[in-house]
Amino acid sequence: MIQLKSPREIEIMAEGGRILAGTVAVLRDSVRAGISTADLDKVAEEFIRSHDGAVPAFKGLYGFPGSICASINHEIVHGIPSTKRVLKEGDIISLDVGVGYRGFFTDSATTCAVGTVDERTRRLLQVTADSLEAGIAAAQPGNHIGDIGHAVQLVVEKAGFSVVRDLVGHGIGTTFHEEPQVPNYGKPKRKEQLVPGLTIAIEPMVNVGGPATRTLADRWTIVSADGSRSAHFEHTIAITETGPRVLTR
Ligand code: MG
Ligand code: MG
Repeated sequence: MIQLKSPREIEIMAEGGRILAGTVAVLRDSVRAGISTADLDKVAEEFIRSHDGAVPAFKGLYGFPGSICASINHEIVHGIPSTKRVLKEGDIISLDVGVGYRGFFTDSATTCAVGTVDERTRRLLQVTADSLEAGIAAAQPGNHIGDIGHAVQLVVEKAGFSVVRDLVGHGIGTTFHEEPQVPNYGKPKRKEQLVPGLTIAIEPMVNVGGPATRTLADRWTIVSADGSRSAHFEHTIAITETGPRVLTR
């Protein structure tokens, strides 16, 4: 069942979302060659907990050990922070973070270049970020979930990259993953209608190569099956009478 949020509840989510936006900014500033993904996890957890009432939502979620997911190069999502995973010049790292605040969750992700990356990788990051913006722009009241996925898919496929289909965005609120599912592909005017009070996480995951995925032996990390690089950008938004409101900017 879809849980619509009241304006007051959306304000609480916006407060939590501001803490999350700050966390993502601090993480982006911390990314450099030589830092481990465990170090980044610590940076995020300390920043989140420095805000009264805020907790890292991922810690313990379905048994996940970290406060962030840190996924390098061909890893798409759900990389486990580790002292053994040290970033190198030319890598990309996807950082996915959630915050719990006063009973509500928000969710956001970004992908950063470590130093200088090759031209195709730069384009992957730009196209994935652009596809998220296109998805957000399509999240107008009266549109449907399918309009969001269609908008994301158009941007990605026009650039010659592929949309991961095994993983999708989601409703979010008092629980981290709620209905509806928000795929990054689809057809206009299909699936659930977008109405004021709906809060969703839109999160394109884009591969340079094919869309197929594989899960590593750690049973968490999901990688591109062909080993090509992958990027992930995500915002939590609320549908309002006047359009989409990004809660994690
Ligand atoms: Mg996320
Ligand atoms: Mg999410």
